[in-house]
Amino acid sequence: MAELVIRVSGQDAALIDRVCRSRRSPAATWRPNRLVVDAHVAATHPEIADTARRAGVSFLVDPLTHYLQDVQHAADPWAALAFADPSANTPADLASAQRQERLVADCLSFQIAHGASTLIAPYVHIDRIGDGWVDIQRRLLAHTRRFLDHNNVRMPVMAVFGLGWRLLDRVAWPAVLNPLLEAADLLGPIPIALAAAKVDQGAHPERRLADLLATVGHISVRHPVLAWNQGTLGEACVVGGAFGYEVGIGWRERCDLRSASAAHRRPPSGGAGARPVYVDNLRRSIPKPSLRMLLTDRVLLPDLVCPDLPCCPAGPSALLGDARAHTITTRARTLAELDAAETTAWKWQLLTQLSAQGLQIAARINAVSRVQKAVTRFDTAALAATHAVAAANRRAAAERAA
Ligand SMILES: [Zn+2]
Repeated sequence: MAELVIRVSGQDAALIDRVCRSRRSPAATWRPNRLVVDAHVAATHPEIADTARRAGVSFLVDPLTHYLQDVQHAADPWAALAFADPSANTPADLASAQRQERLVADCLSFQIAHGASTLIAPYVHIDRIGDGWVDIQRRLLAHTRRFLDHNNVRMPVMAVFGLGWRLLDRVAWPAVLNPLLEAADLLGPIPIALAAAKVDQGAHPERRLADLLATVGHISVRHPVLAWNQGTLGEACVVGGAFGYEVGIGWRERCDLRSASAAHRRPPSGGAGARPVYVDNLRRSIPKPSLRMLLTDRVLLPDLVCPDLPCCPAGPSALLGDARAHTITTRARTLAELDAAETTAWKWQLLTQLSAQGLQIAARINAVSRVQKAVTRFDTAALAATHAVAAANRRAAAERAA
């Protein structure tokens, strides 16, 4: 069964407790397989770790150590953590063994102290061949092995590979991916959370997605792969061989490591704004004001509401209220549908159909957005890439079977 890993924000603590306690609602059936929180959220909301422990759900504390590569605002909650540093570090800054050892020790001790049931080794964002970060990442993984052995820590470990989209191309594997895999081998066959940045962008996102899936396949030979920050491409990754994908509830759906760290240069704003709402047929979330306007369109309405009566008994208004449980339920249900398809060709066929349907609805939304200012244009790149890759893989799988 493919895993849905949900990133819980501080605002979701009570919701996730309800979801985990519920025994009869759709939320109980479609409970996430793992929960992850940002490290600074773990510090301010210890109750989320308690919820996960009570529910027997695996709990991860994401150390977000790629923030070390950018300047962080002095008032930023992440920058105040014991293993953080508000200044922008270069590979040279992190080159000494003492600094790496301290980072690993502080980072893993923090996760243990905040209730993690699986530890995440410190990780960096590697954007280009020869940028110096591959070696740092390899050594952080080696220090992680030493820390675990030295302190007799017997907890499961996960490594995050934070890679720019260019490095997914197989010509880059010998310089980047293969050395990282050798370093991860020191930790045993561990889950690799593949944080592949900006795949759903550029002139040819379908080529980037094909490279991402090839990378998933290459890593999967040695380690199970979890698609990290992949709310828009996670389903394609799962059919392509990942054991699951990770996403926030309505937000944090796309992997863009550089923008994520850059966002912390500014002072904390206090509020994140209205949370976007997950629309099943679009395979991602859209801004609530857009949805409110679109639901007044009688032609579009049936394609935007949740068709699952137990999930959203209140119909259209359910999505305009608190749609967070709906988001988890709907994403988990689609993963189960993909799992249930018997052959890989059928899984790709299902994803081809889902993405084709999404593209049709998106085209209608974008026609409305040209005349209605309140409706935000829908970015179709991820859906189009999914459709192109799913259709090509379905043909290839059918030919192989024949
Ligand atoms: Zn629903």
